[in-house]
Amino acid sequence: MRILLIEDEKKVARFISKGLTEESYAVDIAYDGEEGAFLAEINEYDLIILDIMLPKKNGFEVIKQLRGKGLITPVIMLTAKDDLNSKIQGLDLGADDYITKPFAFSELMARIRAIIRRRYEKIDNKLQFGDLIVDPITRRVTRGDKEIDLTNKEYALIEYFVRNPNRVLSRTMISEHVWDYQFDPMTNVIDVYVNYLRQKIDKGFDKKLIHTVRGAGYVLRE
Ligand code: CA
Repeated sequence: MRILLIEDEKKVARFISKGLTEESYAVDIAYDGEEGAFLAEINEYDLIILDIMLPKKNGFEVIKQLRGKGLITPVIMLTAKDDLNSKIQGLDLGADDYITKPFAFSELMARIRAIIRRRYEKIDNKLQFGDLIVDPITRRVTRGDKEIDLTNKEYALIEYFVRNPNRVLSRTMISEHVWDYQFDPMTNVIDVYVNYLRQKIDKGFDKKLIHTVRGAGYVLRE
């Protein structure tokens, strides 16, 4: 999952991005509204966290512009305490939720999880493909009876695969969803991580789930 954070206060931005990175999200940060709107339009994000008071373009203008262009990426707005008008205005302009500053990181995470759940309309929070089960809430991954221990990046990668089964995922798509904009497309880091995943998910099983599609990318299929 890749998140765009639009927040001019460096301290707050660092706090949020550090926490999200630890939860295995890829995070891009924009420090003003103009850059934020630009990034939101050129990249495919799973979620946008948007502050209201921003240089160049405020949060309301940003969401108005994005929704005006038909962008449906979920947006959580960061609002000031007791500012009911901002909350209402944000929601009216197309925000999916808001969180009041200052907030506990755990509350932000709960709201992100709720939005992602709604987006993928899973009644059961677990994602399943064959005997592979991925739980985005606990981030527990099992295959058959085997518990699979993954690093943050490996987890982000398998979650992306299992949300897009039987679909060929190019290295570009994978980098856009699992890595942030510091990703260097000249490296083979994606292939390296896919191999790590194979070692953990497919090794020892007759049925392999992660397949290479020559010249195209990778696919999760039985
Ligand atoms: Ca601000």
